[in-house]
Amino acid sequence: MLLAVENVTHRYGSLIALDGFAMHLNRREIVGLLGPNGSGKSTLLRLLSTQTRPQSGRVEVCGFDTAKHPQAVRARIGVVFQTQTLDKLLTIEENLLACGAFYGLSGRTLHERARQAMQQLGIWDRRAELGKNLSGGLQRRAEIARALLHEPQMLILDEPTTGLDPVARDEFWKAIEELREKRSTAIIVSTHLYEEAERCDTLILLDKGHRVAEGSPSELRATIGGQVIELKARNPQEALEILQAKFTLPVRLVDGVLWVESEQAHLMIPRLVDAMPGQVLSIGLHQPTLADVFRKATSSTSIAVHA
Ligand code: ADP
Ligand code: MG
Repeated sequence: MLLAVENVTHRYGSLIALDGFAMHLNRREIVGLLGPNGSGKSTLLRLLSTQTRPQSGRVEVCGFDTAKHPQAVRARIGVVFQTQTLDKLLTIEENLLACGAFYGLSGRTLHERARQAMQQLGIWDRRAELGKNLSGGLQRRAEIARALLHEPQMLILDEPTTGLDPVARDEFWKAIEELREKRSTAIIVSTHLYEEAERCDTLILLDKGHRVAEGSPSELRATIGGQVIELKARNPQEALEILQAKFTLPVRLVDGVLWVESEQAHLMIPRLVDAMPGQVLSIGLHQPTLADVFRKATSSTSIAVHA
């Protein structure tokens, strides 16, 4: 078992950041933690990387309990957190070599590992560039290369693409996918971006410290029946009541927008418009997205009506 998290609750004073959280990872794959700001992603990743001790429950990484054997865990994981940590006055290569001692590496082994890691992240040609001159994307890749020096079994990345432009973000993801292929490293990566989440093998959706859904992106999308109709109404509450009275479709009112699941959305749209004269400001349909899955999993305060 690469990772076992069982019944972990974590509080900051009276605030519960993780609530009876559990997850398991057996395969070497890319697992995404998807959730909005404040959902508990960083707290969880700090627990996995032994930066925070569990207050209750159990975290086991590569067979080692993080509370009892933090050193053994640290030897087996690579960690890259949101804040930039390269030495700006050193080159990329020097940044990597300077970390050798930390991992107990030196001499030829260190140089060889550094070369491999830089090649894998596509930054070997850029190794002589100073930290201060690197773009955000290059910095990130250099940090990941550095986190791979000790050949960890698991890589932990907390919102690694924050601040990257779309091109750098895409390059980052290609590098991560290649790592999984070539190095078969297990990767846990947090994000609040749906497009990024699509690139993970498995997703865990987090909301307010709870795991609200888990599965591959396509499995999760398949939990939505048919297509989704997005309807903006003059008076959303009234429109919801009309929908509930006249139709038997799952419907949610979230942030003033109505979301209706329908097997035959193209046929439903004219019927919905007809049913509420003067109400509809805009209406459209789309294939289910992860955003729809998230809304469905978290809209406990909105109303779902079934036949
Ligand atoms: P995420 O990474 O998904 O944004 P966090 O794990 O950072 O979520 O935060 C989860 C919740 O815990 C949030 O409500 C946040 O404000 C709170 N929190 C996080 N770190 C601390 C801390 N050091 N002290 C107090 N509250 C914290
Ligand atoms: Mg965070």
